[in-house]
Amino acid sequence: MQPKDLLALVEEFDHPLYVYDAAVIERQYLRLTNAFSKVENLRINYAMKALSNISILKLLKKCGSGLDTVSIQEVQLGLHAGFTPDKIIFTPNGVSFEEIEAVAELGVQINIDNLSVLEHFGAKHPKIPVCIRINPHVMAGGNENISVGHIDSKFGISIYQIPHVLRIVENTGMHINGIHMHTGSDILDIEVFLYASEILFDTAKHFKNLDFLDFGSGFKVPYKKGDIETNIEELGKKLTKRFLAFEKEYGRTLTLAFEPGKFLVSEAGFFLAKINVVKQTTSTVFAGIDSGFNHLIRPMFYGSQHQIENISNPKGKERFYTVVGYICETDTFANNRRITEIKEGDILCFKNAGAYCYSMSSNYNSRFKPAEVLWKDGKGHLISKRETFEDLIKNQIVIEI
Ligand SMILES: *Cc1c(COP(=O)(O)O)cnc(C)c1O
Repeated sequence: MQPKDLLALVEEFDHPLYVYDAAVIERQYLRLTNAFSKVENLRINYAMKALSNISILKLLKKCGSGLDTVSIQEVQLGLHAGFTPDKIIFTPNGVSFEEIEAVAELGVQINIDNLSVLEHFGAKHPKIPVCIRINPHVMAGGNENISVGHIDSKFGISIYQIPHVLRIVENTGMHINGIHMHTGSDILDIEVFLYASEILFDTAKHFKNLDFLDFGSGFKVPYKKGDIETNIEELGKKLTKRFLAFEKEYGRTLTLAFEPGKFLVSEAGFFLAKINVVKQTTSTVFAGIDSGFNHLIRPMFYGSQHQIENISNPKGKERFYTVVGYICETDTFANNRRITEIKEGDILCFKNAGAYCYSMSSNYNSRFKPAEVLWKDGKGHLISKRETFEDLIKNQIVIEI
């Protein structure tokens, strides 16, 4: 997408605005499937918590994707978008037993990550096949906030507890049909991922009737210049070779599954906001936009760096700005960032705004959530409306005071 297209969309749909480029999502999906083209049964389950708009789900469905879900509401959204239950996997953490049962009832593959739940479920529903999520205790990423494979992580069943899992399976007669891991959100080093995969293969050998092995996600995309990106093509080559060898050893064909969120949608997204104020203090120049962490919380929540461009003045002289929001809290998007000269009324564009941006937005400060637009075939399609005052009050019940 060109900056002029983004500016035209701001004219048409107002600001702040989320825009997603369909071609980028399709490109990323193809990159992943091409990297693993030698695997006979490949399954991509889009982790919809990254961006859950129904039109985005339909786009990924058209690409051939399944869905990875973490709540029954996500499952319901997926079904609503036209996915059949067999295309959905449910990988919750810490949800109630009743919710897991309700999802299984819908015919969706469930993935259990807790011994007590496994035992309870196996005893009650021995006929329903279940996948187990293991914790291989491997730190795939550099940022401890988003690495979920380490020893004290709340996710997964420790590989040291596999003997216990085997006892539960034997006692209940339940059927384990898949083994899953999701080691974290930032795979910087393919070798670390392959090392964790070995642990998954070792675990899989204990189970005789598996249909699939799910390697989760954590594929990294570049957010800023010089960022390391997961080399998906190289990972594809190496893991495919190892997977095919494992299939031989195991004695039957298996499905190789992934569940990427960020990799598929991050780079497709642009967040566009208008400069309300430029404020010069004795030490800093603040550029204040008509948004805040109510619309884009990743910089404050994870310290993530989104590239910011002034698309109203792309050729201007670069200066240093601290980009902040309008929320009555510290909501700094970027500190002393080099951006082309900013004037009040300019439109700033935040890159990599596809994953975990709109889906984490809120109404804090009683602000409306922005609109979302899908850019497809050279045209912007509104896929969710900007909220209105009605949305703010629709669930409130005013009592006599
Ligand atoms: C969030 C999540 C993913 C997606 O992670 P990304 O880093 O966005 O690719 C995959 N699997 C599970 C179980 C998750 O919770």
